[in-house]
Amino acid sequence: MDNFLDGLNEAQRAPVVHKDGPLMVIAGAGSGKTRVLTYRIAHLMNQGVDSFNILALTFTNKAAREMKKRIADIVGNSEAKNLWMGTFHSVFAKLLRFDGDKLGYPSNFTIYDTQDSQRLIASIIKEMGLDKDIYKYKQIQNRISSYKNSLITVKAYFNNPDLVEADAMAKRPRTGEIYQNYVERCFKAGAMDFDDLLLRTNELLTRFPEVLAKYQDRFRYILVDEYQDTNHSQYLIVKALSDRYQNICVVGDDAQSIYSFRGANISNILNFQKDYGEVGMYRLEQNYRSTKNIVNAANSIIAKNKNQLDKVVWTSNDEGSLIKIHRSPTDAEEGRFVASSIFENKMQQQLPNGNFAVLYRTNSQSRAIEDALRKKDIPYRIYGGLSFYQRKEIKDVLAYLRLVINPKDEEALKRVVNFPVRGIGQTTIDKLVVAANHYGRSIFEVMEHLGKLDLKINSGTKTKLQNFVTMIKSFQIMNEGSDAFVLAEHIAKKTGILLEFKKDGTPEGIARMENIEELLNGIQDFVEGQKELADATGGLSEFLEDVALATDLDKDTGDDDRVALMTIHLAKGLEFPYVYIVGMEEDLFPSAMSMNTRSELEEERRLFYVALTRAEKQAYLTYAQNRYRWGKLIDAEPSRFLEEIDEKYIENLTPIDNAGYRYKSLIDSDIFGEVDKSTLRQVKPKSGTPPTIARPNENQLRKLRKLKPEIATPVGNTNTIDPNLAEGSLVNHTRFGKGKVIKIEGVGNDKKAEIQFETTIKKLLLRFAKLEVI
Ligand code: ATP
Ligand code: MG
Repeated sequence: MDNFLDGLNEAQRAPVVHKDGPLMVIAGAGSGKTRVLTYRIAHLMNQGVDSFNILALTFTNKAAREMKKRIADIVGNSEAKNLWMGTFHSVFAKLLRFDGDKLGYPSNFTIYDTQDSQRLIASIIKEMGLDKDIYKYKQIQNRISSYKNSLITVKAYFNNPDLVEADAMAKRPRTGEIYQNYVERCFKAGAMDFDDLLLRTNELLTRFPEVLAKYQDRFRYILVDEYQDTNHSQYLIVKALSDRYQNICVVGDDAQSIYSFRGANISNILNFQKDYGEVGMYRLEQNYRSTKNIVNAANSIIAKNKNQLDKVVWTSNDEGSLIKIHRSPTDAEEGRFVASSIFENKMQQQLPNGNFAVLYRTNSQSRAIEDALRKKDIPYRIYGGLSFYQRKEIKDVLAYLRLVINPKDEEALKRVVNFPVRGIGQTTIDKLVVAANHYGRSIFEVMEHLGKLDLKINSGTKTKLQNFVTMIKSFQIMNEGSDAFVLAEHIAKKTGILLEFKKDGTPEGIARMENIEELLNGIQDFVEGQKELADATGGLSEFLEDVALATDLDKDTGDDDRVALMTIHLAKGLEFPYVYIVGMEEDLFPSAMSMNTRSELEEERRLFYVALTRAEKQAYLTYAQNRYRWGKLIDAEPSRFLEEIDEKYIENLTPIDNAGYRYKSLIDSDIFGEVDKSTLRQVKPKSGTPPTIARPNENQLRKLRKLKPEIATPVGNTNTIDPNLAEGSLVNHTRFGKGKVIKIEGVGNDKKAEIQFETTIKKLLLRFAKLEVI
C-alpha cells in the first residue's frame, strides 16, 4: 500500500520518506506536522521496520490513539498495536514498571498526582513546624516540580549557592530541607510524582548503561510531536535514547511554544542542529486547516513577535468569512452571545455540537459560558478543571485500592485510615508519622508492628489501627482471587464509604454516592475489557495507572456530541470548524501575570496564535466590558491583541464607539443601561447537577439496563454468539463497535478472535466477548 503517500504534498512527503538519521520539521499551525509524523511511522513500517522498534511521543494519549488508528488504516494490519505511543508520562511510567526496581522502586509503585504531592508537602511543612503562610505548600510544590524538571536533585540544590540563596532571600531558607524530606518520603512510600516519571527515567538511563543500551536498541526510531514544548528532562531522555541510532524525528512550531512556565525550553528546537550534526531540516508552508482569512489574521498577529523563526504559512483554502469580533456589556452577556451564536450556526448549517469549541485563558471563565449553554440546552463538555478522578469521594475509594496494591503509599493511607471515621485521631496519625520517619519505614509497616513499639498510643486506639491493617490485608488476599470490580465493590461497602454518603442524605452526598457507582461501573468496564483480552497483563494496578495518568481529553471517545470548552493550553494540536475565543481583555488575555517582560508577552501572543489557528471555518473573538473577577465586578478593557490583527480580516459585530480607540469600553453608554441587572449576581456553580442533557453513555446505559430488566442485554460468563464466526466476519461489539475478524485461533474455551475495530485492534476470548455477528 504505497499510494497512501498520495495523501501528502511534496513538502510533506520529503520528511516522511527521509531515510535514517535525525530530522526536524519546523512549520506553522495546520501545515500537517502531526500528519507527517503519522505517515512517517506508517512508511517506516511499510519499509520493514519492526513496529516494536518505534517510539512516538505525543501531547495527549488521545492523540496517540488516533495516530495508531490512522496507522492501522494505512498499513492495514494489526502491527500498529505494538507501537509504543503516548505522552512522555505514560510511556516512561511503563518503562519504569519494568526497570524502576534498579532504582529501588517496586514495580507496583504508586503515581502521586499533584494533589497527593501537595498534601504531602503541606504535612511536611507542618511537621517541620514552619509557618504555612510563608511556606505556601502550592508554591513549594511548584518549585520542587521545576527543580525536578531541570534535573536539579536535592544534592544539586544544596551544591548550588545561587538556589539556596534565592530561597533564603525569599524568606524561605528551609525550602531545600522540605525538598529533601519530600523526596525521601515519596521514595519510602514507593511513590513517584509526575515529575519523577521523567526524572527517574533520566536517572535510570544515566546510571545503568545496560538499561540505556537495551532501550536504545529497542527504540531505534523515535518521533516527537510538539517538540517546542518539551522540557529539559524530556529533552535529555529523548537525547539519550536516540544517541545510538540517531533516528530521531521531531516536529514542532516555535510560534506555538506555550509551556515555558512549566519549564518547556524553546532552545531544544534551536539547538537541535547543534546536538545532532547532520540534520535533515524540513519546512512546510501550506496550511490545510483554515480559511485564508484565519491563516492571514494569525500571520499578522505572530509577526508582532520579535523572537520568531522566519516562516511562511499560506493556504489554498477558501477566503472564508471574516473573523468576527463581539463586545458584550458583561461576562454573562458574553456567555449568552456565544450560546446564541452557536445555536444559530448549528441550526442554519445543520451542524453537530462537536463542530464548536469555546476557548478561554483560564478555567474560571467557563462558568458564564456554561450557564448560557445550559439555558439553551446545548450539550457541552469541559476539559481540564477538576477531573472525575480527582473528586474527593473517588480519591477515597481509589486510596483503598492503592493501599491494596502498595500498602506503603503514605498519602493513600493518611487519606483513609480514618475515613470513614473509626476513631483514629490526628494525634495518633502524627505519632505514626514520627515513628515511620524515625525508623525509616512506611506508616503501614509501623502499624503492622505496633505491639513491638512503644508509641504511647492507648490500647483502644491500637486495636483500631490493628483492625485497619487486618482489613487492608484481607482486601489484598481478596485481590489475588477476584477481579478488581468485585474487590472495589466489596471495599466500597465493607469500609462503609457508600453508607457514609448515603447517610449524609444531602444532594451533595447523593451525588457523591452516584459518582462512586460511576467509578465502579468504570472498573467493571475495564475488567470486562481485560477478561476479553487474550493477552491482558495487569489487573487492578494497570487500572490505577490508567487513572493516574488520564486526562479528560484522553477519556474523550468522541461518541457523544457536545460543544468543547477548554483552556487554550489544552487545545494545542486540535481543530474545530467553529472556534470562539472569549475574554479578549487586557489583564485576562494577555494575562495580568504575563505582562512584565517582553518574553512573557510574546508567550501570551503565541497562545493567541495557537487559539486562532484551531479554527477551520470561522473564528469569533469576544470580550466583555465588565466582568466578575475575584468576586467583584470590574471594568475590563479590550485586549491589545484585538488591535494587532490586520483590520482587513475582521468584522465588528458590535458598533465602534467614537472615542478613537476601536474597542474602548462602553461602560457609560446606554448599552449598559439595557443590561438585566439580575445577571450581574455571581451564581455559584451547583454541585451535583449534571451539566448537560445528552445521550446516555455506556455506563449510564448499563445502569438503565439494570433498572429495567426487560431491556437488558444478556450478560454472563458464557457467550451465546453465533459459532459461525470466521475470518472476514463483520461483528458488532458492545464497547468497541463495529469490526472485522482478522484471525481466529485456539479451540474450545481458548478460542480467540483478532478483530480490527474502528479505533483499535483487539484479541478477544470468544467465551467472554460480547460480540454479535452482523
Ligand atoms: P498544529 O500546528 O496545530 O499541531 P499540524 O501542523 O500538526 O497542526 P495537522 O494537524 O497535521 O497540522 O494538519 C492539519 C489539518 O490538515 C488536519 O486536518 C490534516 O488532516 C489536514 N492535512 C494536512 N496535510 C494534508 C494534505 N496533504 N492533504 C489533506 N489534508 C491535509
Ligand atoms: Mg499537530
